[in-house]
Amino acid sequence: MKLLAIVAHPDDAEIWMGGTLLRYQEMNAQIKILYPLSVTKQRQREAKASMFPCIFNKNIAKSILSEKPNVIVTHWYNDSHPSHRHVFNKVAKVLPDLIVFKKISVRFFCFSSYNAVGLDGKQFESTNFVDISRYWNKKIELINKFQSQNPAYWIQQLKPMNQLWGAQSGVRYAEGFIELPILGVKKNACSILC
Ligand SMILES: [Zn+2]
Repeated sequence: MKLLAIVAHPDDAEIWMGGTLLRYQEMNAQIKILYPLSVTKQRQREAKASMFPCIFNKNIAKSILSEKPNVIVTHWYNDSHPSHRHVFNKVAKVLPDLIVFKKISVRFFCFSSYNAVGLDGKQFESTNFVDISRYWNKKIELINKFQSQNPAYWIQQLKPMNQLWGAQSGVRYAEGFIELPILGVKKNACSILC
């Protein structure tokens, strides 16, 4: 599997899906993080020091075509941070043409945001959960690498969220995602219920 996370800031992917990235890396999935917006030199250094390979490229379509991911994960469309919504909109804008004209096949997900509450006050309703119980401590280590961003603040906010989704899905800690349709197609058909 090839997973491409497309995020506004270094630390976004690690905070909201760091456990999932660690879990998929252990399964030998190929993981990359794409940053399409400008970031400071310090944040670039922190991104490069993270354990996942990163790409700094404003051209999202070109990056998707060269990386050929099976799974794309980005910010929630209802995120209360304007840069996060901006990145979601940029990704959502390029996907239809890539599907129709470049024939890519990809599943599209978004991850949660601050306390799982959106811009309009609505709750993030996960459609998919990933059990990250075994990766919780390592996820904390990952987030701590982003020293310029007050990691303790994020860890304090994340813990009850990952515990709640863990409780909802019957494990200790989980990360939640929403799978989104692209041009009306949500998932590839499969032979049994999945
Ligand atoms: Zn961010």
